[in-house]
Amino acid sequence: MDRVIVLNADAHQVLHQVSLRHAVAMLYRDVARVHQSVPGRTFGPYPQPHSLVLVSYVYTRWLYEHSGRLPCSLANVLRRDGHACAYCGREASTRDHIVPRSRGGPTSWLNLVAACAACNGYKRDRTPEQAGMRLRVQPFVPTAADLRPR
Ligand SMILES: [Zn+2]
Repeated sequence: MDRVIVLNADAHQVLHQVSLRHAVAMLYRDVARVHQSVPGRTFGPYPQPHSLVLVSYVYTRWLYEHSGRLPCSLANVLRRDGHACAYCGREASTRDHIVPRSRGGPTSWLNLVAACAACNGYKRDRTPEQAGMRLRVQPFVPTAADLRPR
């Protein structure tokens, strides 16, 4: 299914992901504009968005506090991701901010993935794109069932 990334008005901070339908509704309501589009694909009068940027800045304290009732602690992120590194698939022991905190990335379920120490150390305060790394998984907000030990 097509998911669209929603960025804060500064175009750096990833807030969440929405469905393509939701994204188009945001464009119609003029609350967001297309940041990056999917090459060669359109959706109605718009290029099919890969990411949107909000028209006005949203303060993320609320989003942080409501991005899931389960805390995105190291132990919980490791459980959600099955203790596998999101970049190489090996045993993970750390959690990585996909968009680094130094670039405004929130501590939220959708911005955190399990990572091995080697990948986390290599990535440092860069985005995956900047580090030339590919995420093998899409982060999601888990339910309690997702965090049960397997
Ligand atoms: Zn790794």
